Amino acid sequence: MIKNTARYIKSLFLLELIKGLRLTGRYLFKRKITVQYPEEKTPQSQRFRGLHALRRYENGEERCIACKLCEAVCPAVAITIESEEREDGSRRTTLYDIDLSKCIYCGFCEESCPVDAIVETRIFEYHGEKRSDLIMTKEMLLEIGDQAEEQIAKDRAEDAPYR
Ligand code: SF4
Ligand code: SF4
Repeated sequence: MIKNTARYIKSLFLLELIKGLRLTGRYLFKRKITVQYPEEKTPQSQRFRGLHALRRYENGEERCIACKLCEAVCPAVAITIESEEREDGSRRTTLYDIDLSKCIYCGFCEESCPVDAIVETRIFEYHGEKRSDLIMTKEMLLEIGDQAEEQIAKDRAEDAPYR
């Protein structure tokens, strides 16, 4: 009974509304902490694990030596590799696919790679409209690597913080 009366009085004098407006008023002139995405972006860690890329050496040769460690370590079985020997005796991949719809972005592939070939970039703005759009082929991964190499190298430099 007392509870109901208190609730009635509160609603009669719009106490809850006044409480809410007081809270709004308190933050009205404070510094805004929201960002206007996509024009504005929040800071990103250099360890951010986004879209994958395959890297090359400075002479243009692809780093990957087809050891398949990344394929073996991937907990989501998202990587498929086929390889063959070249005429010069070196081994390279003939197929390197990552199915992003399976990937959980754990970074194990990156950590297992002995030659720093497969990496996860800071790129996070991508999408697929059907499942096949999310299968990244070797050519696509190399192209991403070529485009993002500057940032990738900077994040992995000896003097980079949190390396
Ligand atoms: S980030 Fe993890 S789940 Fe994704 S491909 Fe690499 S090892 Fe597999
Ligand atoms: S990306 Fe690295 S770990 Fe994977 S097959 Fe190539 S060299 Fe081996």
